Amino acid sequence: MTVEQRPDQTTTHAPLSRVVGDRAAELREDPELMTKLLADPATRVLVVNGASVPLTDAPTPTLSLASVAETGFAPSAFTGYLGRDAAGTHILLAAVGDQSELTGPHAWGEMRLVGGELSAEDADLGVTAVALARWHRVAPFCPACGSPTELRQAGWSRHCTGCARQHFPRTDPAVIVAITDDEDRLLLGHNALWPKGVYSLFAGFVEAGESLEGAVVRETFEEAGVSVVDIKYSASQAWPYPQSIMVGFFARAANAEAARADGVEILSVRWFSRADLDDAIAGHGDIRIPASASVARSLIDQWHSGNAPL
Ligand SMILES: [Zn+2]
Repeated sequence: MTVEQRPDQTTTHAPLSRVVGDRAAELREDPELMTKLLADPATRVLVVNGASVPLTDAPTPTLSLASVAETGFAPSAFTGYLGRDAAGTHILLAAVGDQSELTGPHAWGEMRLVGGELSAEDADLGVTAVALARWHRVAPFCPACGSPTELRQAGWSRHCTGCARQHFPRTDPAVIVAITDDEDRLLLGHNALWPKGVYSLFAGFVEAGESLEGAVVRETFEEAGVSVVDIKYSASQAWPYPQSIMVGFFARAANAEAARADGVEILSVRWFSRADLDDAIAGHGDIRIPASASVARSLIDQWHSGNAPL
């Protein structure tokens, strides 16, 4: 297997999709791929433990990959081919479920917390591994007929042994919106499920039959009472908790004075100037904003630095 020249990688503002990793999808059609790579001492393995990945922390958090032999796992533990790194090294996924007792020469970190601190390549690889691992955990049986399913395409599809349907990893789209007003203030809300003092953007799942823009308009009105215009796409990233892709937008409120919390999902809403949010962004003060791995934080930071497209 040779490493082909790839075109320039696309980059986005989203913390977990700063580069497009090389998934080498063309290799998945080889039914012997997993067997070959398991026998190759050059193959590296990313172990996923629940939603956590193994890390070394010098000088910054870095994914810790192992050889197949070092994992000590049986071949059935290797459930996906993740692609290859810049040096052409092939990387397999091994998912071990939720094993809080799992130890090793490294620490475990949740991708949703540490992903923003990883290199662009590690963030892409880590979130891909967590997303694929979580799908395999919930997909052993066919949703159509209930029969067992088997791995195909090096872990990127499952074949039903009963009705022969082919199943692929599911991704549920959700929109997240940074709403600004005519004074360039940012609207944030406090969700009933979040710790005290945490404020973030407005978000929600795309409903059946709905466009992304339609979901932006509906969610912002339902949660915050504002009607938005000038909807501008920013960036997206996988958010496998359990199986979303977060699609980030900026939008302008046509009726900023109408902002109000829905009182159910959102308990309070506030317009923030940049000065209002400075303490939160610096990591102190009473108001806290989402971690650096989130699209929410990326959009907030873009607005704060004056780089929002509105
Ligand atoms: Zn079936």
